[in-house]
Amino acid sequence: EGYCSPSGPIEFTHCMYETVEALNADLYPKLHRLVQYPFFRHYKVDLYRECPFWYENGFCMNRACGVEAADESEIPEKWRAQALSEVQVSTEDDGISSCYFREQDYCYIEDDATQEGQYIDLSLNPERFTGYAGDSAHRVWRAIYEENCFGLSEAALAPKPSLASAVAGAGMSGQAAWGFSKLSEGWGTEMVKTQEEDTCEEKRLYYRVISGLHASISIHICHDYLDQQTGEWSPNLQCFVNRLASHPERLSNVYFNAVLLLRAAARAAPYLEAYDIGTAPIGRLLDPKARAQQTVDAEARASLKEVLDLATADGMANGFDEGDFFTGPDAIILKEQFKSHFRNVSRIMDCVGCDKCRLWGKLQVSGLGTALKILFELDEKALDPKINPDLLQRSEVVALFNTLHRHSESLAAVDQFRKMYAETQAAE
Ligand code: FAD
Repeated sequence: EGYCSPSGPIEFTHCMYETVEALNADLYPKLHRLVQYPFFRHYKVDLYRECPFWYENGFCMNRACGVEAADESEIPEKWRAQALSEVQVSTEDDGISSCYFREQDYCYIEDDATQEGQYIDLSLNPERFTGYAGDSAHRVWRAIYEENCFGLSEAALAPKPSLASAVAGAGMSGQAAWGFSKLSEGWGTEMVKTQEEDTCEEKRLYYRVISGLHASISIHICHDYLDQQTGEWSPNLQCFVNRLASHPERLSNVYFNAVLLLRAAARAAPYLEAYDIGTAPIGRLLDPKARAQQTVDAEARASLKEVLDLATADGMANGFDEGDFFTGPDAIILKEQFKSHFRNVSRIMDCVGCDKCRLWGKLQVSGLGTALKILFELDEKALDPKINPDLLQRSEVVALFNTLHRHSESLAAVDQFRKMYAETQAAE
């Protein structure tokens, strides 16, 4: 492990929070528009696979846990046909959960070709508070952190107390105030440094990805929170303070994931721009429905181009350099370990006992897995749409952009919480 440097690329130091925030103000509305188009809002997923690790009854009593399926008549036939033809190529069955993966995949891929599963219209199922909590939820998070996380814990990676206590806060712990002061001061300083000096960059990368995902989910819970007394949905500042602002490193991991995902989109931009995101049937020009679909398809392509143009512009995506990882003498072994840990996380998602949480959990693990695959497995030649048109399956493309959207939405929510906090301070 000689190549594990104490303060290398994972520290992410050259990427300022304010750069990320300024770019996100532009990116978020564009992404938000993109994911409303039919190609991006339909995701096929099998929500009822058995948990392979322990008995889980998978039944959440809360109505908010339910998932609404898509209208099957809106699903273009070509999605199934296309996926079926891709499956014929080089896949392995893992023999356990009737899912398959290709050598380069970082996760089990849900896709349009499988018999099981159903199409979900993501726009009908917002990621928000569901009431899923307690032992079942903790068991899943613990399994992800402890069993699959190279033995790293949050405590080992927490920021220095001196940083946390540097800012005193009225009515809040030093940690919470620190989170907010960084937010309100524009994050003009470097990203929070994780402190475990002799930990491999790749292991920390893994931890940050998981913790960033966890934090992004928590932000959505706090931002779209159900007040069980009044029955109203609204942002819950105290929830945000408790779960996020008092743990600045969690917040920093959300920024980190957003940059990682954007970097992957930028790297694969020519491939993604050439991807067939059309829904209209070919050759039915006189059919009014098909013509309307063609108009929507053209808009979707323009919307995709806008997002990719932003991703490839100088700035946010430059904060991550995939070339800094998996370069040492143990690179091959380390990468295989990393991949197998990440694949396990995608299977642990089958143990999440709430349908809607499982849906977004699976989608985001797949989106992050796709980003990691783009960054660490595919070179420019592989990403050439002419040489390799079937490189990514539809579900991977959908997961990648929706996961980026989830994280970008989290950053927009952080901005809103910062304003809410400033208002409460002004009122005191
Ligand atoms: P949890 O969030 O359960 O965290 C457990 C412990 O992990 C904490 O005590 C802390 O020690 C540590 N921890 C927390 N956050 C981080 C972090 N970012 N980095 C590192 N360590 C951390 N609930 C919903 O209402 N809606 C959803 O959509 C939803 N989706 C979920 C998806 C998945 C995959 C899972 C496993 C759970 C989901 N849940 C969802 C449940 C939710 O994540 C929490 O588990 C639940 O709200 C209980 O929260 P908690 O405060 O007990 O802490």
